[in-house]
Amino acid sequence: MRWENLTDPTSSTDLTDLTGSTDDGRTEHGRAPEAALFGADAVTTRTIDTPEFAGVTFHEIRARSIVNRVPGASRMPFEWTVNPYRGCTHACVYCFARNTHHYLDLDTGLGFDSQIVVKVNAPTLLRHHLASRRWHGDHIAMGTNVDCYQRAEGRYRLMPGILEALRDYANPFSILTKGTLILRDLPLLRQAADVTDVGISVSVGFVDQELWRTVEPGTPAPERRLDVVRALTDAGIGCGVLMAPVIPFLGDRPEQLRATVRAVARAGATSVTPLVLHLRPGAREWFMAWLGRHHPYLVRRYERLYAEGAYAPKWYQRRVTRQVHELAEEFGIGPSRAALRRRVPEPQPEAEPGPATPTQLTLL
Ligand code: SF4
Repeated sequence: MRWENLTDPTSSTDLTDLTGSTDDGRTEHGRAPEAALFGADAVTTRTIDTPEFAGVTFHEIRARSIVNRVPGASRMPFEWTVNPYRGCTHACVYCFARNTHHYLDLDTGLGFDSQIVVKVNAPTLLRHHLASRRWHGDHIAMGTNVDCYQRAEGRYRLMPGILEALRDYANPFSILTKGTLILRDLPLLRQAADVTDVGISVSVGFVDQELWRTVEPGTPAPERRLDVVRALTDAGIGCGVLMAPVIPFLGDRPEQLRATVRAVARAGATSVTPLVLHLRPGAREWFMAWLGRHHPYLVRRYERLYAEGAYAPKWYQRRVTRQVHELAEEFGIGPSRAALRRRVPEPQPEAEPGPATPTQLTLL
């Protein structure tokens, strides 16, 4: 599985669903509707700043469609996505979705972290879509572009309606998230899992606290995300961990990889899939500026490592993947929670892993 498989090239096609009607044609604060914000095809219904989300502006829109087809050239393991939000207050410096804000005429740096587009009619649209005779019940992936359980979801509560629709139509789906808010919807996830295939994956690239605070400043701590993995597993919903991104020179030391995989194993994850940082336009500029501020001595090394483009060299990706596979094998990551309890040891002094057979890893 390659890192690019988690990028969502639906971004360009997805913009077509930003068309909609206005409710009152003006913003809550009396500003004119920001038609130009989303181009000629889209109109903002309301723009809201609220003390509860200091520094964040919500652009509520009525979307025209909500199920987006992944372009055929993509190598993603799914064909359809649902993304109720644009922008993400989790504010990961490396976020590959930053460039999607560029298409909205929004800033891809701080703007991506703080200008959140909310498709307020997403649950209704999805239910209509699933009811259509033209829809054949294909798998729908969520969280592939921006996090559907980011903080905004606490305010807008779009996911319960989305999950109810998927449950009612027994439509298979998967969710990738860093948000602990997903546990709010655990009863719905269980109901859905009773009638269809449900795949949950939580993203935890590292457990290093200092790295987390600086590079993923708006996210729940890695330990809290692993609590989600544990809670889902205990509820009978298998949960994998996407170990992404593994950040070169900052999160790739053997002891860091070991600590992360060990924590993933102890949380009872059914799989762990490592993915090395990639730096596409939009994310690249923002990440490199951050790197220059926080780790200036690494800038030249990054320029060399990513000299060929958005991806680290194959040899580097293979090395990380092999290391994580070996650790996964060592810590016994697999589907059996009982087996994990038997096989995952308490933290021990660090030791280099011996040779092992790579574990079969799956995504979602
Ligand atoms: S949680 Fe995901 S979508 Fe949100 S900023 Fe981080 S990487 Fe981007």
